[in-house]
Amino acid sequence: MTNGRANAKLRVAMPATYTDLLASVRKRIREISLEELRRRLDAKDDLVVVDVREKEEYRQGFIPGAISVPRGFLESQIESRVPNKKSEVVVYCAGGVRSAFAAATLAELGYERVLSANPGFVRWKDLTYPVELPPSLTDAQRDRYSRHLLLPEVGEAGQVKLLQSKVLLLGAGGLGSPAALYLAAAGVGTLGIVDADVVDASNLQRQILHATSRVGQPKVESAKKALADLNPDVKVIPHEERLTSANVERLFSQYDLVVDGTDNFPTRYLVNDASVFLGKPVVHGSIFRFDGQVTTFVPKKAALKFGVTEGPCYRCLYPEPPPPHLAPSCQEAGVLGILCGIIGTIQATEAIKLVLGKGDVLAGRLLAYDSLKMRFHELRLRKDQACPVCSAAPKITSYVDYEGFCAIGA
Ligand SMILES: [Zn+2]
Repeated sequence: MTNGRANAKLRVAMPATYTDLLASVRKRIREISLEELRRRLDAKDDLVVVDVREKEEYRQGFIPGAISVPRGFLESQIESRVPNKKSEVVVYCAGGVRSAFAAATLAELGYERVLSANPGFVRWKDLTYPVELPPSLTDAQRDRYSRHLLLPEVGEAGQVKLLQSKVLLLGAGGLGSPAALYLAAAGVGTLGIVDADVVDASNLQRQILHATSRVGQPKVESAKKALADLNPDVKVIPHEERLTSANVERLFSQYDLVVDGTDNFPTRYLVNDASVFLGKPVVHGSIFRFDGQVTTFVPKKAALKFGVTEGPCYRCLYPEPPPPHLAPSCQEAGVLGILCGIIGTIQATEAIKLVLGKGDVLAGRLLAYDSLKMRFHELRLRKDQACPVCSAAPKITSYVDYEGFCAIGA
């Protein structure tokens, strides 16, 4: 038998009907009028607008910029969609009821500044306020990406994310070639490629973007031809230039993330510092003879945006480049061509996971591959609390041009 007195107390505390329950919820939450919401959106106020209606309702139009988290998934999904509980959040539904309950739930989950729009989207449309329509795939795209659409982790929403994503590839060489082909095949909508070289016959043993018929052409043009033929959905932007401190910000700022296949120290430090300053993740790959390695640098500013954990940066591991007499020789080293395929493809996998927000990326982990022994192993990379660039008190706050890197006489 249950305790009669406790039950009686419960009856007093609990509202008796739906109307009572709604009234009690309304007392606990704060509401915002549609006029005020419109005014604040027009003023570009820092608001996170969450649409808690069903997916079907959302697909027919929503308040511009709103993210969709249906009421039924609110508790399970909101923390991944809106990780910062101090953000000012406005929830809305069709009429202001579901959003009232959603606002109460968000407050219970620790969101500190939640407003419920009252009334909701039906009235918003009547007022002829702006409405945004969700992007959707064409029939040809549904066909092309059908094997992605069958994966719940990708699905239509993930494919749209890929099509809207912008990835910058540094180098259309050994690593950039397989990475570019797979990123284009996957439907990454915008691929920027930075490379100042021309195709040489000695590249073709591993740089599978290029072809014998294109020897002598700029690599970015050769890459553009190959990728346009593979997937016309992809906009390829050729940047026929060398990455320098003068152009790094202009190039990086146009893209969501960077896939780095360059192979020299000055560029590595430039890429690292820009990644930290601008908050862009960098998927780094390198190869030497039969060995390759990959890691993903996720700076603090990017961690929140991509919903992944922050990792160390390159300077956490190597704060300064080695003195010239200890730097590796600049002589061309041999490399097993197919090794580039393995490493570049792992880099592309990391980039796709970052865009989709799925899985665990190699932040704070270095994956090393030995093709002769056919072994992978993993090293843990730690963040240096005194790192010259990514620590709380950085010593380096602008770009450094390192020159004269090769051992003399190498
Ligand atoms: Zn660092």
